Amino acid sequence: MVLSSVLGFPRIGANREVKKAVEAYWAGKVSADDLTKTAAEVKKFNWTSVKAQGVDFVPSGEFSLYDHVLDHSAAFNVIPKRYVGLGLSPLDVYFAMGRGRQADGVDVPASEMKKWFDSNYHFVVPEFSEETEFKLNFNKAVEEFKEAKAAGVTTRPVVLGPVSFLALGKPEKTAKLGFQPISLLPKLLPIYKTLLSDLKAAGAEWVQIDEPILVLDTAATLEKEYNTAYAELSPVAPKILLTTYFSRLDSNLSFVAKLPVAGLHIDLDRAPGQLQEVVDAVKNTDIVLSLGLVSGRNIWKSDFDAAIKLAKVALDVLGQDRVIVATSSSLLHTPVTLASEDKLTPEQKDWFSFALEKAAEVSTLAAILSDSQDPKVAAALEANKVSIANRRKFEATSDDSVRRRVAAITPDMLERQNPFAIRKEVQAKHFHLPLFPTTTIGSFPQTKEIRLARAKLGKGEISTQEYDDFIKKEIESVVEFQERIGLDLLVHGEPERNDMVQYFGEQLQGFVFTQNGWVQSYGSRYVRPPIIVSDVSRPKPITVQWSSYAQSVAKKPMKGMLTGPVTILNWSFPRADVSRELQSKQLALALRDEVVDLEKAGIHAIQVDEPAIREGLPLRRADWDAYLKWAVDSFKLATAGVSDKLQTHSHFCYSDFDDIFPSIQRLDADVISIEASKSDMKLLKTFKHYGYSNQIGPGVYDIHSPRVPSEQEIKDRIKAMLEILPPNLLFINPDCGLKTRGWKETEASLINMVEAAKWARENH
Ligand code: GLN
Ligand code: ZN
Repeated sequence: MVLSSVLGFPRIGANREVKKAVEAYWAGKVSADDLTKTAAEVKKFNWTSVKAQGVDFVPSGEFSLYDHVLDHSAAFNVIPKRYVGLGLSPLDVYFAMGRGRQADGVDVPASEMKKWFDSNYHFVVPEFSEETEFKLNFNKAVEEFKEAKAAGVTTRPVVLGPVSFLALGKPEKTAKLGFQPISLLPKLLPIYKTLLSDLKAAGAEWVQIDEPILVLDTAATLEKEYNTAYAELSPVAPKILLTTYFSRLDSNLSFVAKLPVAGLHIDLDRAPGQLQEVVDAVKNTDIVLSLGLVSGRNIWKSDFDAAIKLAKVALDVLGQDRVIVATSSSLLHTPVTLASEDKLTPEQKDWFSFALEKAAEVSTLAAILSDSQDPKVAAALEANKVSIANRRKFEATSDDSVRRRVAAITPDMLERQNPFAIRKEVQAKHFHLPLFPTTTIGSFPQTKEIRLARAKLGKGEISTQEYDDFIKKEIESVVEFQERIGLDLLVHGEPERNDMVQYFGEQLQGFVFTQNGWVQSYGSRYVRPPIIVSDVSRPKPITVQWSSYAQSVAKKPMKGMLTGPVTILNWSFPRADVSRELQSKQLALALRDEVVDLEKAGIHAIQVDEPAIREGLPLRRADWDAYLKWAVDSFKLATAGVSDKLQTHSHFCYSDFDDIFPSIQRLDADVISIEASKSDMKLLKTFKHYGYSNQIGPGVYDIHSPRVPSEQEIKDRIKAMLEILPPNLLFINPDCGLKTRGWKETEASLINMVEAAKWARENH
């Protein structure tokens, strides 16, 4: 019989109970016991409801109050020295590592957070040194296995694998130069042995060991470590399901297929092309193959017929008892359930599956593949065919004019009229910006009043007219402020935006929004990504009224402000029926119209933010060029439809450009602003090394902290920058938008920045 499995379930609670409880605990409003109780309720809900969908392998141990990698570090005693000896409870040490702690005389910053592969989830980076003393502070896998059992569910515990755990970490500051976390493997394995043998003793038949780094190119160098680790663990552990996701095994398959494990999971949502090779590689072993057919990364209903076809490739060779139908990855990246959406139309609802619905899908698929004679299963298959056919019909009749427009894109549409050197002269005549022009990245503090006004508009407590008037007042005061302190290139402050992606999604055709479609981004931060459901177009101008109003009340030039096509795409749930490239180009055309309209409305500088270009990079290097080609083309398509006079800007919130530098140059933005305040000019050296030719505004101070940089500090930064960059290419700006800051520090910091720029003009 084909069995079904879910690799992990969202841990936020169907009504965001975990966020509420965790934040209440931080605020001192509930006790640790209350928090544990809420967590227990959510876990129980997860186990029992996944089981109720008929799933055979229900996960446990992957629940977390903050981050599962952080849980793992805490359990294995991987606690950097700065968090030790502060007199905190283990729970508070845990949260201090996740988010820092500044109270009662304790002042420690948070650990570094990194994106979990190519998802929008962030994990807390473990820190290792020669002195790391692994020990099992607690055995979460065993505890939650027992907890689930008491709730009536026998689970398959989930454990992060030893090689991935070390490889995802970094050396602690105190480590010797050249220290590599992976060198700790021999010290770490005995602890894993204890964990796994305890799990076996507790009655677990299987354990899911996640080794997601196996889909990265870098894992190719870790063959020896993998061999050692699994040779040691297998004999003492429950049956091991070695789990990979988000991409393909590629050449790593040659050693993975020989590891002494009982099962192997592969992602067939992201990498269906690897199936045949993997089947061939395991065919003469005893390995059970877990097929990740139901996407853990998107919210679309699975196409059962397509999934069955794929599954048969494995089934024909391995037989029913060696095949499992599973979600492609943990369902952590999807909202909990469609049941709580009552604003979507029935037609729209029928397109989607969230986590709980996906659990039902794996179990139905497994039943179909086991030749179940249950009429309910046959009915589910029929219903799925109808849903998929309806969706296909909708897709086919979606906006044809948009597709024709994409098909008619010509190479000249991607290029400005003249090269940067000429544009720069034209713009200089037109603009009269001083040397070292000062500007900001777009948003000004999103105050309580702004959020309140938006909430009132949403509830119908104020009219659109009243709201618009309120926004205009905000714009006026932001403009007045910027002129008063002497900034050169102004912005309108983005008061009208709830979020840089959602705002555009709401104004464009082709998106839908959920009420409760939250997914965890990090810790207690959840996001509700817009869903792209059909061809994207712009029914009417989006930002033009605000930017031109801002310009009308300003004496200095105003910079228009848009979110770029790649960023909108990467921070939404994309369609699954057409390529990301196509969706990106559609978005680009919509934005191109906006850019052209802004120019017509008298705006002569426009910033198109692309902070998500880098994070959209595919996990496998071999796929980078194809991605970068369409990502950069999309940006160019959005921004190239204007005259030479128009100064285009773009902004990136990161600083590691080394490996994508040629693409940044190819964007051909007149000005880019980048995060530089934390990266010690390393990045500017990269720019110099490659001979970057356009203008750059490397952030002169860090906006992520309320700290006010002194004028002297900013002068020093500018001086250092001028040692690397030609003066006529330098813009002076903070390193990101100011929306999360308060006015007090914003004002003080920007005044210092403007003064430092004046000083630079006089003294350079
Ligand atoms: N223009 C946006 C802002 O200032 C950019 C935000 C971002 O880079 N994430 O808020
Ligand atoms: Zn930014």
